[in-house]
Amino acid sequence: MRHIAIIGSGPAGYYTAEAAQKRWGDAVRVDIFDRLPVPFGLIRTGVAPDHQSIKGVARRYEKTALTDHVRFVGNVAVGEHVSVGELQALYDAVILATGAPEDRPLGLKGDDLANVFGSAAFVGWYNGHPQFAGLDPDLSGRHAVVIGMGNVALDVTRILAKTQREFTASDIVAHALDRLRASGIETITILGRRGPHNIMMTPRELGELGELERAIPLVDPADLPPIDEDAILEPGLRKSVTHLRSFAAFPESARKAKPIAIHFDFYASPKALLGEDGKVRAVQVERTAVMGGRPIGTGEIYELPADLVVSCIGYRTTPIPDVPFDERGGHFSNEDGRIAPGLYCVGWAKRGPSGTIGTNRPDGYAVVDLVAADIGGGADKRGREGFDELAEARGLEVVTFSDWKKIEEAEIAAAREGSPREKFVDIASMIAARD
Ligand code: NAP
Repeated sequence: MRHIAIIGSGPAGYYTAEAAQKRWGDAVRVDIFDRLPVPFGLIRTGVAPDHQSIKGVARRYEKTALTDHVRFVGNVAVGEHVSVGELQALYDAVILATGAPEDRPLGLKGDDLANVFGSAAFVGWYNGHPQFAGLDPDLSGRHAVVIGMGNVALDVTRILAKTQREFTASDIVAHALDRLRASGIETITILGRRGPHNIMMTPRELGELGELERAIPLVDPADLPPIDEDAILEPGLRKSVTHLRSFAAFPESARKAKPIAIHFDFYASPKALLGEDGKVRAVQVERTAVMGGRPIGTGEIYELPADLVVSCIGYRTTPIPDVPFDERGGHFSNEDGRIAPGLYCVGWAKRGPSGTIGTNRPDGYAVVDLVAADIGGGADKRGREGFDELAEARGLEVVTFSDWKKIEEAEIAAAREGSPREKFVDIASMIAARD
């Protein structure tokens, strides 16, 4: 028998469990830990609430979760309630699938001003992550600035721009929907420190900006490279740049027809955040030129009015005591997923925040290959039986998968019309809903 502990119940965690189950069938027991009482990590609290089709992948994870030898162990924070060392003593392999839940810091003067948020916090707020549900952003100002030109910047921009009607089929949480209803935002500027050929936005997601009810994306034609230079781009990026070209071609009448303008500000590197009475009022920006793919400051400085700033510049894994950490990469130190024999990492905790949800599937299968090579038939560890004793001794309030199904039922029952669920946004309500 092999006993495996997976820490983190997001895509990387469940793909890894699926791989272990497929490989060993009856000869494995997998426990998937999560610090929240609810499973699926980024699918629940990261993927945008208006991207329900992407969230559908949770059904695949549920299949794995419901197999006989895979268990969900919710509401247990590894590194806090139980140490990695203690789990290693109980399980043949401990696999960290904890993702990258912290914001990469902007590191600019003024980044501690009120109404400046990182995307982990802001996305967590509108997705009802218990850690960020109380964020309380002020959306009453006219100007929002979103820093970064990746898919998270697109998510944040789209959420700020949508009408209430456009949220009908989403599972955006009520506190965010209410706040957005009263939003005064008229301009959203997306700041990119490089040019149109350097965006990280994928075509489908970028195309959505062109179809919003009350907002129009605007690109200055002068920022676009000559069209024949698009030929060298890989096909996905070429499609994205084609969207930018179509945004640049919107006629004046189209601009006037929509009350919210989404400006793409290329070659624009944020230098400082300026405030008044402790709250952000502007972003100081330096114009750049791209040389050898890198943004170089030109010395030209300007100010963008900003009542709200959301920085979407990437994420970091949260370190865990006694686990080696690669500070530069912002993830656990590892060699292809192996931290040390018996201790592994997978997904964003292994490689940093890149790729799509599906990228985690091969990662999960690959880490199980490593585990198999290291542990063979297993070393007669106590596995879940040992953990259950420890949990009882410590008085941990473990949440099981069937508890989660009760929580989910209550969320579905509470949904507003057209929405799949109304999420609980605090841990106490989640736990109360299973009782
Ligand atoms: P990302 O794709 O890495 O984009 C980060 C952006 O931030 C880049 O434009 C980067 O510019 C910019 N940036 C980084 N440091 C900066 C700084 N100091 N100042 C100004 N700009 C800075 O990251 P992400 O948007 O957080 O997305 C993370 C991953 O999740 C990606 O793989 C993404 O595709 C995925 N995701 C997918 C979806 C979807 O498929 N619907 C939705 C959300 C997220 P440079 O390029 O110049 O460094």
